[in-house]
Amino acid sequence: MYRIAIISLHGCPVARLGEKDTGGMNVYVLQTAKELGQLGHKVDVYTRYHDPADPQVVKLNDNARVIHLQAGPYDEHKEQLHLHIPQFLSNLYRFQEGEGLSYDLVHSHYWLSGMAGIPLSQRWHIPHVTQFHTLAEIKRRARVGQVEPSVRIEGEKSVMSAANAIIASSRFETEDIVHLYGVSPHKVHVIPPGVDLALFQPMNRTAARERLNLNGNKIVLYVGRVEPIKGLGILLEAISLVDPCEHVQLLVVGGNAEKDAELVQLQLLSEKLLIQGKVDFLGTVNHDELPVYYNAADVFVMPSYYESFGLAALEAMACGTPVIASRVGGLQTIVKDGETGYLISWQCPEPFTQRLEMLLSNQAVRQSMAVAARTKAQEMGWSRVVERLLELYHSLTKIPLATS
Ligand code: UDP
Repeated sequence: MYRIAIISLHGCPVARLGEKDTGGMNVYVLQTAKELGQLGHKVDVYTRYHDPADPQVVKLNDNARVIHLQAGPYDEHKEQLHLHIPQFLSNLYRFQEGEGLSYDLVHSHYWLSGMAGIPLSQRWHIPHVTQFHTLAEIKRRARVGQVEPSVRIEGEKSVMSAANAIIASSRFETEDIVHLYGVSPHKVHVIPPGVDLALFQPMNRTAARERLNLNGNKIVLYVGRVEPIKGLGILLEAISLVDPCEHVQLLVVGGNAEKDAELVQLQLLSEKLLIQGKVDFLGTVNHDELPVYYNAADVFVMPSYYESFGLAALEAMACGTPVIASRVGGLQTIVKDGETGYLISWQCPEPFTQRLEMLLSNQAVRQSMAVAARTKAQEMGWSRVVERLLELYHSLTKIPLATS
């Protein structure tokens, strides 16, 4: 049995998903913490309070819990959060000492948590495993969205150098860590994220559409945060070029019009392209309600400029929905081109339109891709992820695996 301190400073695993800073990482932390807890390991996830209404401790199951700590104002900008790491740490030490807790390993998520993981691992004399989810150097090279501050790039370098092991979600991320940050490949371990196979399952498409009050249009779906790197502008333009005979309707799940400037820009773009009647910006949807959306869709599209993994694409596949995605990052390891969907090498609308028309007009291809997509997703449940994590923890701590 391991006692694990998970640090997810800005990514609260019980926060509402699909807003600017809540997405795949939050899902990853929640699912792995719960799964480890179910196996009998003691897991504490430390995160900062982002809402005064949150209780300090939220139980996930008998062995896993989330602990909220004060670290700066509730609505602090992500760019300023690094200034509050000292406060986060002193509150963490107070909680840990107050409860008499000790840990075998610290596992940090994103560079901010990695920066907290460095002193924790030194003070407690335990190994530090880290994973970044996104890297500033890659975002910078994608040349979309805001410029990443140098404090982040320097922070990532320090975390990579101090950590005992780095988890990458695909071999592409490993290559970036090795080549862009000069890390030894021996330090990097590829463990792809997973999908909740019990939640994300195929269901009757007609029933799913009825539940969402959709009419007879062909449904194209996007699910995720709404930010420039996600390439939603490409998707809107691609939709505007689809043959009108296809009667296509795009559902965009995620984003918050009051908080995301990008969502407002996209609404304006859809008006400019004269497709506002074909696009529904639905805002965020509860994670547990997403299976009905994936099942209602004919095609799922992820047109990202960069994606370290792309959990939403895997969730769509688990529901038996073909995926058209950019040929970037981890998406290349999930989508099998021509088998479970299509990978697009160009970040421009026309190739997306062409593949959309191909799939929307061809039910037989959609059906065979649906079966292949679910089969591929079935290899990727969270239990497999946690098995691999435990092997890594074992190699670092030498604590036997089979004591739980
Ligand atoms: N998500 C959600 N509700 C929403 C929008 C997104 O539950 O309204 C979830 C989605 O199911 C997925 C995650 O947020 O699990 C997004 O992860 P992904 O890896 O696709 O993108 P990231 O956020 O990591 O860029």
